[in-house]
Amino acid sequence: MKKIQMVDLKGQYAAIKDVVDPAIQEVIETTAFINGPKVHEFQKNLENYLGVKHVIPCANGTDALQIAMMGLGLKPGDEVITADFTFAATVEVIALLQLTPVLVDVNPDDFNISVEAIKKAITPKTKAIVPVHLFGQAADMESIMEIANEHNLYVIEDNAQGIGANYTFSNGNKAKTGTIGHVASTSFFPSKNLGCYGDGGAIFTNDDDLAHIIRGIVNHGMYERYHHDVVGVNSRLDSIQAVVLDAKLPHLDTYNKARQKAASKYDKAFQNHPKIETPFRKSNGCSGNCDTCDCHVFHQYTLKLSGVDRDGLVKFLNANDIPCGVYYPIPLHKQKAYLDERYNEADFTVTNQLVKEVVSLPMHTELDDEQIDFITSKVLEFIDG
Ligand SMILES: *Cc1c(COP(=O)(O)O)cnc(C)c1O
Repeated sequence: MKKIQMVDLKGQYAAIKDVVDPAIQEVIETTAFINGPKVHEFQKNLENYLGVKHVIPCANGTDALQIAMMGLGLKPGDEVITADFTFAATVEVIALLQLTPVLVDVNPDDFNISVEAIKKAITPKTKAIVPVHLFGQAADMESIMEIANEHNLYVIEDNAQGIGANYTFSNGNKAKTGTIGHVASTSFFPSKNLGCYGDGGAIFTNDDDLAHIIRGIVNHGMYERYHHDVVGVNSRLDSIQAVVLDAKLPHLDTYNKARQKAASKYDKAFQNHPKIETPFRKSNGCSGNCDTCDCHVFHQYTLKLSGVDRDGLVKFLNANDIPCGVYYPIPLHKQKAYLDERYNEADFTVTNQLVKEVVSLPMHTELDDEQIDFITSKVLEFIDG
């Protein structure tokens, strides 16, 4: 059996080496390293893939979120609602811009931001909501957009884990995650579903004016050479990363299918187990078989355990050469940097529980049946004794 990796970037590279190597070589020879034509080509191809008017590439997914918020003109003191159960980057940029992060609880089934909790958290100072499509599953965008419209709020989708996922509206219409809110951010960090060979990110929007503002912000606030109209940042995707992404983009759906297939195989091994809850599949337009609806692209395959020594399981799997992860072990509202006396523990019952119960198993495009069988047998061996 091949050694099991949490993410197998080598195996994926081997399959596209013939395309990637000459493309990187070409960038080196043309020396158009920054803002070259390759970045523009990738941008156009991603716009077509997503069905969004504007993709603005930038340096990483954290920058993308920050720039999206700057582009919307959010001001110090504005409140931004986001999920307590996510990667810290989401809340970090809110705080960095001196906006006020308002963390709220998530749903116990799909781990995404709770619509009820959003409603409760809205105040006259609220300006934006940042749903995260956590682990590759679309948040409830229809309800979130409804609340946002009602209260005149911006919606910034953190799509770092969801690229390629579809959201199905109640009327049956579908849209890719990251194209539904006013603006969205994504990350091309190597382990993401569409990852490059370094850092990278992008902002998406259908709003022409906002796209224009953001294109200036990523480039030192310049709209005309050496005229700095607004305070900007320096955040660029380089051409080498762009050709890697362009080589991978045509395979993104196949990559996500491979993840879904691995997820289905995991699901089967754990089905009806009294102590294991397999990932929720959105009922909204989803047959329960994500191979057809793409509502979950399994950036992570995350189990929820009950009556199991989760940390003992992690140690046992590691001892058997099975990497696994706990995403995330600490709720953001309990992180030192984001403590706020307005928070009330009773408002975070789901996140407080999830951090003790979740475990993410190896998930990538190169997992084979033998590896999945070994992983599931070891998980069950630990749990069933
Ligand atoms: C990875 C990630 C980010 C940040 O992306 P970087 O490219 O690492 O800066 C932001 N939000 C979420 C939910 C992520 O998973």
